[in-house]
Amino acid sequence: MHPDLFEDTLFESDTCAHEEANKPFETQRDKEEMRRDYREMHVGEFQDMMWGIYFSRDSKRGVGGTFERLVEEIGELGEALKGEDRKALEEEFADVLAWLASLANIANIDLQKAALTKYGDGCPKCRQTPCKCSFRSQ
Ligand SMILES: [Zn+2]
Repeated sequence: MHPDLFEDTLFESDTCAHEEANKPFETQRDKEEMRRDYREMHVGEFQDMMWGIYFSRDSKRGVGGTFERLVEEIGELGEALKGEDRKALEEEFADVLAWLASLANIANIDLQKAALTKYGDGCPKCRQTPCKCSFRSQ
């Protein structure tokens, strides 16, 4: 980051960066603005990126072995959710997404197409955004 930009950020904000990182998204707009700070990437592009990095290894491991790694990563995410380490938590989310994309690659599933086909028109049951289905906690 350019030093001037960093200084502006410091003076405009009355909360420290750590507090900022822990603040939940207030609105969909906040979420979208935060996302714009990063390189834009579609789900399919991320899946292609994982293909480029890991496909030759993952295809040797097979669907079963790769699924086991995804399950392990979900366990690690569960542990990170109990802690206070935001960076570790962020990394675990990234790992779960990476292993999910890898598994989709070797199972020959287009994640972006699958996600949009199922959720592109809102909730798959009631077709509303936000979902209007009766709430079930279990
Ligand atoms: Zn619904």
